[in-house]
Amino acid sequence: MSVGASIGISFFSVGDYHCTADELIRKADTALYEAKNNGRNCYRIYDKNVDVKAQKARQLETALRTALDRDQFELYYQPKYCAKNQTIIGTEALIRWNHPELGLTFPDDFMPIVERNELVFPLGLWVLEEAWRQLQIWVDDLSLDDFSLSVNISARQFFDAGFIAVLKNMAADLPHLTAKLELEITEEVTIENVDEAAIIMQQINNLGFSISIDDFGTGYSSISYLHKLPVQKIKIDKSFLVDSLTDTAHSETVVRSIIDLGHNLDMKVIAEGVETLEQVNFLYQNNCDELQGFFFSRPVRAEAMTVLLQPHSPTESESQLQA
Ligand code: C2E
Ligand code: MG
Ligand code: MG
Repeated sequence: MSVGASIGISFFSVGDYHCTADELIRKADTALYEAKNNGRNCYRIYDKNVDVKAQKARQLETALRTALDRDQFELYYQPKYCAKNQTIIGTEALIRWNHPELGLTFPDDFMPIVERNELVFPLGLWVLEEAWRQLQIWVDDLSLDDFSLSVNISARQFFDAGFIAVLKNMAADLPHLTAKLELEITEEVTIENVDEAAIIMQQINNLGFSISIDDFGTGYSSISYLHKLPVQKIKIDKSFLVDSLTDTAHSETVVRSIIDLGHNLDMKVIAEGVETLEQVNFLYQNNCDELQGFFFSRPVRAEAMTVLLQPHSPTESESQLQA
C-alpha cells in the first residue's frame, strides 16, 4: 500500500492584519481543493483568481444538488444528417440547465462538476430515461424508421455496476427501440481501460444498443485500440473541422484518414461541428456518412426538433446543398 498526500499552502503577509487565522486556513483549504482537483499528490499555493473560480464552482455544486429535484434540467436535440441525401437520420441529446439566476447554462460549465460528484449517477439516469421517453414519442408518432437518438455517457456512469441493469430494463420495456438508441462514449473513457470497456460495450451491443466513439482523434492511442472495441460508429472531433479553417491541408488529411480508418473497420463515420458548405462538400466527397453541426441546425428544444422531423419543404441550408 502507498500513501499519497495533497497539500494546500497559504501565506500570511506581514501588514495584512485583516487576515485572521480562520481565513488563512480557509485559503489553504481552497489551495488543497485545487491540488486534489489537479490529480492529487501535488501541492498548490493559494491564488485569488482560482479562489473566485472555486467559489463559483462551489455555488454551482450546491445549486446542482437540488436542480434535478426542481426539474431544472432539459434535453436539447441537435439533428444528424445523412451526407448523401441530406435527410435527418437521427439526433443527439445535449443537456442544458435552466438555472434560476444564470439562465440557460451549458454542459461545459457544470458537467465537469457533476462528473466529480455522486450526482453523475442520478443525472446520467435522468438523461437516459428522458431521451428514451422522447425517442418512443418520436418513433410512435412520426413512424421513424432509419433513425437513431444518441446520448452522451460519462465515464463513471459507463463503468458503474448498475449501468447495464438500467439498459436491460429499458430494453425489456421497449425492445423495438433498442436499435434506435446510440450511446456516445468519449475516446478518453475507452483508453483508460480498453479491456473492461470492450466487455461492457459487448454487453451493450448484446442488448441491441449501438455505440459510437465521441470526440474521436483527440486521444493518444486511438488507432491501436480501436479494432479491439465493438463500436459501430466514430465521431470525428469538431476541432479538426475548426482547424480546417486555419490549417486546411493538414486537418483535411487527418479527417480523410479517420474516415478511411472507420470504414476499413466496418464502422460508420460522423463529423460533428460542421459549420460551412465547404466542409459539407469536403466531407461528402470523402465519403463521410453523417454530418452534424451549426450549418444544419443548432441544438434545439424537443418541440423544435419535432418540427424538424416532420416532412417539410427544404430549409435554406438544404436548398444550398441541393443547388
Ligand atoms: P459533444 O457530445 O461532443 O457535443 C458536441 C458539442 O458541440 C455540443 O456542445 C454542441 O452544441 C456543439 N456543437 C454542435 N455543432 C457545432 C458546430 O457546428 N460548431 C461548434 N462550435 N459547436 C458545435 P454542448 O451541447 O455545449 O455540449 C458539450 C459537451 O458536454 C458534449 O460534447 C458532451 O461531451 C457533454 N454533454 C452534453 N450533454 C451531455 C449529457 O447529457 N451527458 C453527458 N455525460 N455529457 C453531456
Ligand atoms: Mg456527443
Ligand atoms: Mg463530440
